[in-house]
Amino acid sequence: MPDNKDRSPGLETLAVRAGQHRTSEGEHSEPIFPTSSYVFDSAAAAAARFSGEEPGNIYSRFTNPTVRTFEERLAAMEGGERCVATASGMSAIYATCAGLLRSGDHVVSSRSIFGSTTLLFTNFLQKFGIETTFVSQEDVDEWARAIRPETKLLFLETPSNPLTAIADIRALADLAHAHDCLLAVDNCFCTPVLQRPLELGADIVIHSATKYLDGQGRCVGGAVVGSRDIVGEGVYGFLRTCGPSMSPFNAWVFLKGLETLSLRMKAHCCSSQVLAEWLQEQPTVERVFYPGLASHPQHALASTQQSGYGGIVSFEVKGGQTAAWKVIDSTQICSITANLGDAKTTITHPATTTHGRLTPEQRAEAGISDGLVRVAVGLETLDDLIDDLQHGL
Ligand SMILES: *Cc1c(COP(=O)(O)O)cnc(C)c1O
Repeated sequence: MPDNKDRSPGLETLAVRAGQHRTSEGEHSEPIFPTSSYVFDSAAAAAARFSGEEPGNIYSRFTNPTVRTFEERLAAMEGGERCVATASGMSAIYATCAGLLRSGDHVVSSRSIFGSTTLLFTNFLQKFGIETTFVSQEDVDEWARAIRPETKLLFLETPSNPLTAIADIRALADLAHAHDCLLAVDNCFCTPVLQRPLELGADIVIHSATKYLDGQGRCVGGAVVGSRDIVGEGVYGFLRTCGPSMSPFNAWVFLKGLETLSLRMKAHCCSSQVLAEWLQEQPTVERVFYPGLASHPQHALASTQQSGYGGIVSFEVKGGQTAAWKVIDSTQICSITANLGDAKTTITHPATTTHGRLTPEQRAEAGISDGLVRVAVGLETLDDLIDDLQHGL
């Protein structure tokens, strides 16, 4: 690390170096520790470890060196004190809620969140006496009106999927704190390379590591980042006992993914910007949704809270579902799949896949038209992607 006392290491340095604790073997690349348990020198040493008197590894449900390296690296990149790695993005959200909330508590959430997150709130938290009110991503006043005395958590993801609506993290953090609530931000789309919610006042950052942190579509995983108190005690306490843990192998894949995250995100952003501008000029395209376009209604807000506009571009084609399916089925390079954050570009028809379980009225309210196509722009040669989309337009 540089010797300059006034400057802390940059994000790319943390992504490559943070959290590594070299063993006596002198390995250069981080090792994988596929071990379920650990041995102690004596019965007394085991007792000291179990009682918490002496720190160290006990059992890989809650202590594993490879998982810890991933946690320390991601915590450093998000600017948080602690990170807890989980088996999936959904278990990161569940561990946050189960660790920090109790029956009778109330959640206010953006309506524009990942589908399974909506179901987690409505079908499962509800069952344990935790109610959720859904509000508009963009309207801070609506959030304020939804807060009750028993509200404990505000939840959002920004930019939203697939329409890239931006939530004002700083304004909502201030609102949360004025009412003794926590603000949790699902930072899956931006990653710490483009947006650091903790610096904007959020209390908790949640990741689906499955997406950009891996970046090559190999593993499912998640993470929660925040303070020693909230994440190190509250969320970790749930994980330790209830056990939705990340495997050491997956942690290793993700921590290697973090090393190239900054380069990849910059490439995703560059290609997306050019693609969005090109789409805007196509006569068969009605409208393009990308925060990097001056025509995006929240371009200014995105520019202040993000350092790049991300890799998701959505657009409406003229001619509804038939025209949208024609664009999708005419591609030869893009993968027809709902996943995102991969080196491989993916293309999706939200109305009949990710949002297919909504009623037509709910879809209309959410702004998901039949002509909408979502592209998660990958790392292929940009001209090839443009040609690929051109076929069906
Ligand atoms: C995919 C996704 C999740 C869920 O993550 P899994 O790893 O699939 O469990 C949560 N939030 C967002 C924004 C996602 O895209």
